[in-house]
Amino acid sequence: MFTCKDSIHSLLEYVDGELSEAQAAELREHLRACPPCVDFLQSYKATPKLARRALVDEMPRELAGKLKAFLRTKLPSK
Ligand SMILES: [Zn+2]
Repeated sequence: MFTCKDSIHSLLEYVDGELSEAQAAELREHLRACPPCVDFLQSYKATPKLARRALVDEMPRELAGKLKAFLRTKLPSK
């Protein structure tokens, strides 16, 4: 299964054009169903190359928060 964690590693290679076609297809499939990862891809692309390492180091917590917020809107709360 292709998880968000996998997608983050793939995203970095995808932006750098280092992803194989099969991996890119898997990533695009994941992005269709996962707005938080799309957000991350967009901020990553908008980040200057030198600052990207810091962004990736910080990302997991931020993405986890976004994911939680996203899932809260999708899942019925009881
Ligand atoms: Zn995701």
